[in-house]
Amino acid sequence: MAIEPKIEVSGLRKSFGPLHVLRDINLTVEPGGVVALIGPSGSGKSTLLRCLNLLVTPDRGSIRIGENRFSFGPGTSPLSKYKLAGFRANTGMVFQHFNLFPHLSVIGNITEAPMTVRRMPKAQAEALAMELLTKVGLPDKARDFPSRLSGGQKQRVAIARALAMQPEVMLFDEATSALDPELVGEVLAVMRSLAHDGMTMVIVTHEMAFAREVADKVIFMRDGVIVEEGPANLVIDEPQNPATRAFLAHFH
Ligand code: ADP
Ligand code: MG
Repeated sequence: MAIEPKIEVSGLRKSFGPLHVLRDINLTVEPGGVVALIGPSGSGKSTLLRCLNLLVTPDRGSIRIGENRFSFGPGTSPLSKYKLAGFRANTGMVFQHFNLFPHLSVIGNITEAPMTVRRMPKAQAEALAMELLTKVGLPDKARDFPSRLSGGQKQRVAIARALAMQPEVMLFDEATSALDPELVGEVLAVMRSLAHDGMTMVIVTHEMAFAREVADKVIFMRDGVIVEEGPANLVIDEPQNPATRAFLAHFH
């Protein structure tokens, strides 16, 4: 029996005014699968990721993540706040610029959503936070404030914070792009271990060696269209489409 995909996107479209940013995107990710989204700046990668988290509302199409399904466009019902909150809680998002709460300690950052959204008792949320801080290699930073941390440490806290909602999928939007080169490795190591633990992930990245190593599937986007997709080593080492080849040439 075929395993049902964890993420299923079909016919997804999004425009900002006259600008067609996503044009008929279709995408599936298997449970435990890792997909790397690559492509030039402005190709729609962030918008696609934001649609998966419903930070951006698509114009058309449907998205299913686990048991949660939404359809968009004429004849579909508007998003209820309740369903939206449940959906967001199930998709952990990690951004380029960490977005930690500066007024909360590291452990405060991680326990905030489980306590407010999931109504988790404080002691339980803190135990979970410590477990996650250990997982990302920062158990001794629990009481520090974000301003005291390096970029790599902040990003690892942001990953722990997203994991604290126990999401079914994790979305990473250029999670290492704002880091000094010597700090990239520690964040990629955490992402790699998540992948090995079986987390379903969609990763927007410019780290081609990492994508090749960790992703099962690479998707190359340009101008809101999926131009090429396939097994990571094939797309990266032997791209078939001239646009994919031209893009990847920048990384060799
Ligand atoms: P990428 O992440 O691949 O660089 P984005 O998804 O961020 O691409 O952006 C794709 C296009 O959509 C760009 O031209 C960008 O300027 C435009 N865009 C993204 N978000 C908005 C928005 N909220 N309003 C208007 N235009 C936007
Ligand atoms: Mg982007």
